[in-house]
This record gives sequence, C-alpha cells and structure tokens, in this order.
Amino acid sequence: MEKMSGTFAAAAVAFVLAWSAMPQALAIEPAQAPAVVSSVLVIHAGAGVGRSGLDEESAAAARIALDAALRAGHARLQEGKPALDAVAAAIVVLEDAPQFNAARGAVFTHDGRNELDASVMDGASGKAGAIAGVHRVKNPVLLARAVMEHSRHVMLVGEGAEQFAHEQGVELVDPSYFRTEKRWEELQKALRREADSQAGAGPSATAYFGTVGALALDARGRLAAGTSTGGMVNKRYGRVGDSPIIGAGTWADARCAVSATGWGEFYIRTAAAHDICARVAYAGQTISEAADTVINRIIPAAGGSGGAIVLGADGSMAFPFNTEGMYRGWIGADGVPHVAIFSDDILPLTPDPE
Ligand code: ASP
Repeated sequence: MEKMSGTFAAAAVAFVLAWSAMPQALAIEPAQAPAVVSSVLVIHAGAGVGRSGLDEESAAAARIALDAALRAGHARLQEGKPALDAVAAAIVVLEDAPQFNAARGAVFTHDGRNELDASVMDGASGKAGAIAGVHRVKNPVLLARAVMEHSRHVMLVGEGAEQFAHEQGVELVDPSYFRTEKRWEELQKALRREADSQAGAGPSATAYFGTVGALALDARGRLAAGTSTGGMVNKRYGRVGDSPIIGAGTWADARCAVSATGWGEFYIRTAAAHDICARVAYAGQTISEAADTVINRIIPAAGGSGGAIVLGADGSMAFPFNTEGMYRGWIGADGVPHVAIFSDDILPLTPDPE
C-alpha cells in the first residue's frame, strides 16, 4: 500500500513538473491511460475552426454530428467488430455532415471543384489503403478501405480510383452533391484575398483547414486509423495533401495510431503521423510527449500549423493542436461521448465518475 502511494506521489510530482514545463500557449491535453484498458474511439473534424467563423447554432450542429460519429463507431466496437470498422463507421458520419471539410462539406479547389482524398491503416496487419483527387465518391473512406482490402495497391488516384469504386460497388454521386454555399463563399473570399495580396502563394491561414479522422482500439487490442478531407480551400487542381499519404496524415501500428489535420505540406515534409509513432516505438516517448513534440514543436518550427489525434494501444490518447480550435472527441466502453471544439474547452480524458 505504502509502495503504491509512493509510486502515485512520484507520478503526481512528475506529472506536475511535466505539465508546468509545457508552453502555455500550446493547446495540449495530457494523455491518461484508463485504469482498465478497453475499447475506445477517438475522432477529430479539423483544426481550422475559429471562433469568428462559428456561430452558436453551427457549433451546436457540429457537436451533434461529432456525437453521432462517436456513437456510430462505438456501436461497432460494442458488437466486437475490428477497430477498422469503427474507424470507417465514424468517418462516414463525419463525411456525410455538411459542417466538416470532407466529402459532403468539402472545400473547393481554385477552379471550383471538390477534390477528395482519404486513407486508412490497420495497425495489426500494417495494411493501408488510400485514394486522392476523386470528384464523385460519396464516402472516400470506404473507397480507401476497398483499395486496402480488394486491390494489390496502397493508393489509387483520380479516374482510376473512380473506376475502381464503380467495380467495387462503392457509391458514386454527381459532383454537385459536394457543393455547399458556405464552402463556395469561402472560395470566393479566398480568391478575393489572393487577388488583393497578389501573392498567389496559396493558403497561409488556418481558416483554410478542415479534415476528419478517427482512431480506434478494439476489444482485442488492435488499432486502426483513418482520415478524409477535401484538402485546403483554393488549392490547385491536382494538389494532394497529407491526409491520403500514409505516414504523413495517417498511421497505425501495433502500439500507436494517428490522424492529422493541418497545413498538409508541412505534415508531408515531416512525415508527421509516422514520426509521432516512431517516437513512441524507438525513443520511449509517451503518446502525449510524442504528439506534442511533432505537432506543437516540429511543425510550427517548419512554418506549419494544425493538430492531430493520437491513440496508444494502452488506451492513452492525445489531442494536440496549435490553432484556435479543433473539433475533437472520444468515447470509451461506457458509451458516453465527450466532445470539444475550442482550445479552452475542457475535454475530460477519463470516464465520468458514476
Ligand atoms: N491536412 C489537410 C490537407 O492539407 C487539410 C486539413 O487537415 O485541414 O489537405
């Protein structure tokens, strides 16, 4: 007993020291492993959300959609389905919600199209699937999964990917399905800003972000990850960001899973998702430390910004981001969804006491 409380006191002191050493400007919640490891689902819906762009009604609608995504994934885990099923189920709900920049609510390219990217990775088998630059796939995450499970390849792009969708019976829709007025207006604003500055250098503000992602740990201790996006507002036709790049926007292995959101070029250059898990595997960092190092130090030092969700095989999770907000949430075995949006919203990382 004494030994236990000594261990606890040492851990508490270490925690306080580590916490006080953290730069306060950075939004990071400490990872905590639940006492009993059990299935868990973690989601995000983009780190590009700012207070000025979100009225109360939209925030409430976003919370409802996050909640629904968590419940959909949780139901799969409760049925004893593999982690990848939970990831896909949660992402489909987020893709169908017009609030988020993925599938239905995707942003527009410079020339006024919606171009979608997605990927999935199964941590137990190390298999992955990805698609990029599609215009007609209703749920890109399902096509990424079909690439993983029913092709010899990891990534398909453009027309080839859509032809594969047709062969696999993955639902195709008219491109007008992805047109929302809010996103069209965003593009017009971005074009005006670009013309004003005459920079033409592409996106530079977090208002251009948004992406959805999910991670799951199933009852057998297997991890999976998935990410789906419309990319960045005003991106060039043919531009591919980090979301469908395995190791940049998505990663899962036996002990760590990541889905990223942010300025994709920086996540690709730093192999961000893989780097987080490599730090856990080879450098002995905790999920929280590795997530903070890459998202809040390495990426900003390179000139980028954004966030990520990270989940460990012991159930520990981290939600680092360095923007005003990141739609995020998690649900454990008790089936109670927890969601947060802005950096000062508290996201409890342990189940509510009974
Ligand atoms: N990372 C995505 C991209 O660069 C955008 C985002 O996460 O908001 O395509």
